[in-house]
Amino acid sequence: MQRPAKLTTLATLLLSAALLTGTAHAQLAPSASASAPAGTTAEARKANIVIIGTGGTIAGAGASATNTAAYQSAVVPVDKIIASVPEISKVANVKGEQIFQIGSESFNNERLLKLGKRVSELLKQPDVDGIVITHGTDTIEETAYFLNLTLKSDKPVVVVGSMRPGTALGADGALNLYDAVLVASSPASKGKGALVVLNDEIHTGRDVTKTNTFKTETFRSPFGPLGYVVEGRTLYYRTLARPHTLQTEFDIDKIDKLPEVAVVYAYGNVNPASIDAAVKNGAKAIVYAATGNGSVGDYMVEPLKAAQAKGVQVVRASRTGSGIVVRNAEQPDDKYNWIVTDDQLPQKARILMALALTKTNDPKALQQIFWKY
Ligand code: ASP
Repeated sequence: MQRPAKLTTLATLLLSAALLTGTAHAQLAPSASASAPAGTTAEARKANIVIIGTGGTIAGAGASATNTAAYQSAVVPVDKIIASVPEISKVANVKGEQIFQIGSESFNNERLLKLGKRVSELLKQPDVDGIVITHGTDTIEETAYFLNLTLKSDKPVVVVGSMRPGTALGADGALNLYDAVLVASSPASKGKGALVVLNDEIHTGRDVTKTNTFKTETFRSPFGPLGYVVEGRTLYYRTLARPHTLQTEFDIDKIDKLPEVAVVYAYGNVNPASIDAAVKNGAKAIVYAATGNGSVGDYMVEPLKAAQAKGVQVVRASRTGSGIVVRNAEQPDDKYNWIVTDDQLPQKARILMALALTKTNDPKALQQIFWKY
């Protein structure tokens, strides 16, 4: 009899401590907000969130429950996905809008611009508090980085996906979507830039990248996530140091076309013809996904210099997946007027370079942009 009584006291103490810590570091749990009378205070009322559907695995379906990695993506309409997670309506007023039904590998500049402009339009509506975008995971990092750089609003924008279709055993989409709505509804997410939410984590669109082809634990940021979503709570531990959204010089409403930027991947025996092909195809810049610290093979230097002489900007990136490319280390960038990516991955450097080229064609100014964002 003695023992259970002690345990109960201990459990009560622990619970009180946890609650106290929770209120000190996080906003009210959404269940508490949802039960408060509507429209009393900003915290108490449910947020109005628009969920824009673009496709991806979160809208996917497999032939059987054991198909966790072989299935058809982009088949379930966004309204049906929302309806399959009724818990969402307890934490926010949501409205679905289908803009595309595609695998995210099919995103191109036109689709990216269309999505960005629609998000921007919605963010201007006073009755919209935040946006969630359901998206394939393959290029979620590119879309999120693009939105992070171009949206002119401090309202929360969360891009979410899943690694398994809704039909699979252990499907992750329902919880990811619920978490994304929580994060988009949280006042703490205001002014944090475009975010990516998956697998209980909140990442900044700037840093996040997909690192595994099938595991649910695939998204990583080199400096760690910004926070967690757990038990209905949005918990932040750090913020992005680089400028984003309202702080950038790029405005989605003013961009109608993105210049062509090619990524050329380096490998042993890489063929210089890929550089010529990019130039012939109208590339205004080549992001060279080089080996190591942006090293360029001896037989690739001249073709890149020739491209640069034709007015095509050359950006040295690294295919290693992390780290910075040090200017003037592996190649004399000052002499060649080349640019280094700082720490950006080639696919993200492509986004930044396309945006940067809408502002300037001067390699020195372009380099500053890479160091800034
Ligand atoms: N290929 C899919 C896509 O990116 C994969 C996924 O969503 O996880 O749309």
